[in-house]
Amino acid sequence: MTNSTGPARNEVVLITGAGRGIGAATALLAGRRGYRVCVNYRTDEAAAAGVVAAIRDEGGTAVAVRADVTRTAEVERLFATVDAELGQLTALVNNAGTLEQQCRLDEIDEDRLNRIWASNITSAFLCSGRAVRRMSTRHGGAGGAIVNVSSAASRLGSPNEYVDYAAAKGAVDSMTRGLALEVAAEGIRVNAVRPGLIHTDIHALGGEPGRVDRVAPDLPMRRGGQPEEVAESILFLLSPASSYMTGALLDIAGGR
Ligand code: NAP
Repeated sequence: MTNSTGPARNEVVLITGAGRGIGAATALLAGRRGYRVCVNYRTDEAAAAGVVAAIRDEGGTAVAVRADVTRTAEVERLFATVDAELGQLTALVNNAGTLEQQCRLDEIDEDRLNRIWASNITSAFLCSGRAVRRMSTRHGGAGGAIVNVSSAASRLGSPNEYVDYAAAKGAVDSMTRGLALEVAAEGIRVNAVRPGLIHTDIHALGGEPGRVDRVAPDLPMRRGGQPEEVAESILFLLSPASSYMTGALLDIAGGR
């Protein structure tokens, strides 16, 4: 553990889906705070390489590792690479997640449901399991912290847009509570952030790239959030500054 204000020493963080958006902002901030950073990505190698280069330019340590975190074999390889290239894992951010075209629930088919469950739920379960095996004192580890990136959608339900995505994030909230209690006495803290409307590319996947600007006038703070504002809270939950927090669901939604 580090002190609560100084840079992290010997801390290794794996951030899933860190080539862009909230994951990329979190990787950059973690590098700045002294973490050795694994930037996981699925398809966009150039974007991930850009994040790694930015961390290294500031004197930090980072590697990019391609892996689809919905697949067990790829998750195993991802964690083995972290072990070999960065050392003992101390932190995991389950950030990878997707949504699909806005629609009503009565238009959602089985294939889409399976994709949404996999990208938002299965990924967090598979990665958390490997992290616990490395960090838990029960397995000879030295402890650590996990942060799940849930969503305000889990409490709002996202009607007429993506109830499936909202429900998947509800599962992430439940997993956060359950896993936090499971490993609380084993040196691992598990918390979640629940961002509101954040300026990233994810809204284009729903068919509305300008969604944040459309909704912004109706938000309490009259604006959407920036990925960097979410990253600050993720780093807080990873750090000793939140040493007595576990099982918490932290809303970062501008009052929404
Ligand atoms: P984004 O810009 O679309 O980035 C998502 C990242 O996740 C992409 O880099 C994507 O990589 C990666 N990813 C998706 N599936 C993956 C997989 N199976 N394996 C590895 N990487 C995968 O989205 P974002 O807005 O930054 O979202 C990050 C997280 O925040 C998500 O969990 C999202 O649900 C959550 N969130 C976002 C908002 C918001 O308003 N932006 C609000 C609440 C919660 P590829 O490019 O290869 O697909």
